[in-house]
Amino acid sequence: MARRRQIYEGKAKILYQGPEPGTLVQYFKDDVTAFNHKKTGTITGKGVLNNRISEYFMLRLAEIGVPTHFVRRLNMREQLVREVEIIPVVVTVRNVAAGPFAERFGINEGTPLPRSIVEFYYKSNELSDPMVSEEHITAFGWATPQDIDDMLALALRINDFLSGLLQGVALKLIDFQVEFGRLYEESGEMRIVLADEISPDSCRLWDVDSNEKLDKDRFRQDLGRVEEAYQEVARRLGILPEGGPADLQGPETVQ
Ligand code: ADP
Ligand code: MG
Repeated sequence: MARRRQIYEGKAKILYQGPEPGTLVQYFKDDVTAFNHKKTGTITGKGVLNNRISEYFMLRLAEIGVPTHFVRRLNMREQLVREVEIIPVVVTVRNVAAGPFAERFGINEGTPLPRSIVEFYYKSNELSDPMVSEEHITAFGWATPQDIDDMLALALRINDFLSGLLQGVALKLIDFQVEFGRLYEESGEMRIVLADEISPDSCRLWDVDSNEKLDKDRFRQDLGRVEEAYQEVARRLGILPEGGPADLQGPETVQ
């Protein structure tokens, strides 16, 4: 097999050049970081599960007309995506107060918000992703007002759809973050598409009855049973790899 060119290694994934122009391979690692790299670790099998979970969400979202970068899953840890120009703005949607947001506003964690709240953060490891307003985004040229409108509308549709889907498997979507990118069609037309991943790394998911946390907060807060939480989310979505968790130790890059 020809050696693939590694384009980027991030906190949770590695990007390789894809087989065709305009494509990339996203390799999902078991590495996990929190509090802007101050806490690092591994969650065994996380990469395999997040690859599946993100595939599942992206496919369901595409079915309702949300444009995404996802093309197809290649193997246990890799998926083929369309290369986009990432907009360096992380879009967060919150339904229930949790984490640093709850602290920031002095609201008890678990309090439902009066309505879904969208926030923007500038994607920058050096600066620890500071929260920004539309003013910062347009003034610094990270996105245009039209891009922001598109991201806002898409983020709220994603929120509505995923909230319902997850409710159906007894999970509450507390909040989540997404990244968008610009995709240039051959016609020269530009579209904003959902990129990166949607997984328990990027969402807060609580069991509807017990409020048990089934996401990366288990790692952040040393709650234990971290692997099991990711497996439980996949199990409820009906996408645990065949053979169950035993499969998770499988070959890492088979193509
Ligand atoms: P980070 O540590 O920067 O969050 P990750 O480990 O999440 O990185 O790796 C994924 C990286 O790839 C992110 O920087 C993300 O912005 C970028 N990315 C995700 N999807 C695409 C895509 N379709 N095209 C180009 N870059 C992408
Ligand atoms: Mg990331």
